Amino acid sequence: FKEPQPLNLKDYISEVPDFPKPGILFYDISTLIRSAEAWQVATGRLARIISAWQPDLLAGIESRGFLTAAPLAQRLGCGFTMLRKPGKLPGKTISLKYGLEYGEDELHIQADAIKPGQRIVVLDDLLATGGTLAASIDLLRKAGAEVVGASVLIELAGLKGRDKLDVPLNALITYE
Ligand code: AMP
Repeated sequence: FKEPQPLNLKDYISEVPDFPKPGILFYDISTLIRSAEAWQVATGRLARIISAWQPDLLAGIESRGFLTAAPLAQRLGCGFTMLRKPGKLPGKTISLKYGLEYGEDELHIQADAIKPGQRIVVLDDLLATGGTLAASIDLLRKAGAEVVGASVLIELAGLKGRDKLDVPLNALITYE
């Protein structure tokens, strides 16, 4: 896929103050995925980067990670698996609890989702403190994966979430 013209993806991200609670600046990708052209460009860039890691399977983090991982898996000819909140996946699951700023959260994967040693790239929409991606990587390893990379659309670099990850991370868009 050749980009028709250089396109600044930041122009397609909406910055929403005080959402979902006061003091949070929410980076909304709705406006990016709503644009056929910008979304083609974004997924094309992701495909180039992620294909170099030669994954067997892509893992998407609920729920906006599904939006990037599922179409990319199709495009790269690999499978797709979901990392989900408790109570969503049928059958036996493997889970991991992780700390948030206030309280804790938990992610699950189906116990038979990964064959030992499969090369996995994990995707989410945004990297903030890195807690979610770091926990996802731990969970994937617990499930038998070799995690070969992590990919986000947006990195909030000032929060240094990247330092929590021990795999290569790619971000298409960076805010300081
Ligand atoms: P963290 O675990 O701190 O890296 O947070 C990343 C997760 O929270 C991702 O799944 C994001 O979708 C969400 N998130 C955190 N901060 C923001 C933000 N400012 N705008 C949009 N999503 C966010």
